[in-house]
Amino acid sequence: MAQMIKTQAEIRPTPTIEDYLAVMYVMERDEDEVIAARLAESLEVAPPTVTVTLKRMERDGWIATEQGKNIRLTDKGCAAARSVISRHMLTEWMLARMLKVPWSRVHAEADQIEHTISDEIETQMRANLDDPQLCPHGNPLPGYEYVAADWVPLTGVLPGEKITIRRIHETAEDNPDLLEFLEKNGIVPGAAVGVIEVLPFNQTLSLQVGDEKVALGFPTARYIYAERMKDEG
Ligand SMILES: [Zn+2]
Repeated sequence: MAQMIKTQAEIRPTPTIEDYLAVMYVMERDEDEVIAARLAESLEVAPPTVTVTLKRMERDGWIATEQGKNIRLTDKGCAAARSVISRHMLTEWMLARMLKVPWSRVHAEADQIEHTISDEIETQMRANLDDPQLCPHGNPLPGYEYVAADWVPLTGVLPGEKITIRRIHETAEDNPDLLEFLEKNGIVPGAAVGVIEVLPFNQTLSLQVGDEKVALGFPTARYIYAERMKDEG
């Protein structure tokens, strides 16, 4: 009799597969090529392991490969990716708002918890957290990508501009040292900052954050997005 009830574990991919699907979803969303080499780098897994896992994922219908190289999510894979990303982002908010976990720590903690949340609890979290469109780092929940559409990476701003920090890309969220630096220096979503200097030949820029001047390198700056403030008068 128990066999007749399909448990969540049977419908959902394993935590490892969920991690792969989430990374692929973000790559597809950003119109980056989804190939094994990039997955290995992003997931910090050895390339042969990625190859084996991808074969299994294709067999189970989460992904399809084209010309043996380019990978795309199937409808089923896409739905599973959206689900785990939503659970991750809602968990980040829960940790930040209810447990007061520091902003720079919620991502890593949510990575552990996201896989164990049931659909029912996810629905309750969404309602209790007032249906957020963005995670605490400003990345859009699946379905709300349009909210972030007009924000520009800091590598694209100009000296003298007034901007509001809106988003720290998922790629940067995986770097705890960077998140801690940004938190300590007030470069978090909602912060109003001025652009002092942009030096492309030097691959650096500097920002006025409150009374402090903060320098960033382009490799970091390209993962931080801001909204340009309209000039008044
Ligand atoms: Zn986040």
